[in-house]
Amino acid sequence: MPVDPVTEAPACDVCGGTPAEFATFRSVLALLIAWQLQTRRGWFCRDCGVSVHREMTTFTMVAGWWGLAFLGALTAIAMNASAAGRLARLPAPAYRTGRPLAPRRPLSRSPALIGPILFGTLVLAFCCGVPGR
Ligand SMILES: [Zn+2]
Repeated sequence: MPVDPVTEAPACDVCGGTPAEFATFRSVLALLIAWQLQTRRGWFCRDCGVSVHREMTTFTMVAGWWGLAFLGALTAIAMNASAAGRLARLPAPAYRTGRPLAPRRPLSRSPALIGPILFGTLVLAFCCGVPGR
């Protein structure tokens, strides 16, 4: 864990910025009956944490619905949102030794939203039936 040389507070694993908090992000790849969970954990500043959150959650929104692991995808998205919420409350990093991760497109404007929307539509059609039949 890198630390700030002056305050000795934990610093971001990516850019060395402070303040930083420990966080865990997950992504899920679902393939019918198999699934793969990837985890990235470490100390992140606000900016790098938001970038990792967007990357891992976007992947899950695209690849997490296509099998029995959809509950894992929902759980991963909720846990990622919780971790990102904590990091988003941190102040902007005041001091960095490296380059932060590039900000990614906000999830609310990501084309990956089609994954959960399509999944939700299919679940509703399966549970409620197709209107007019
Ligand atoms: Zn950082």
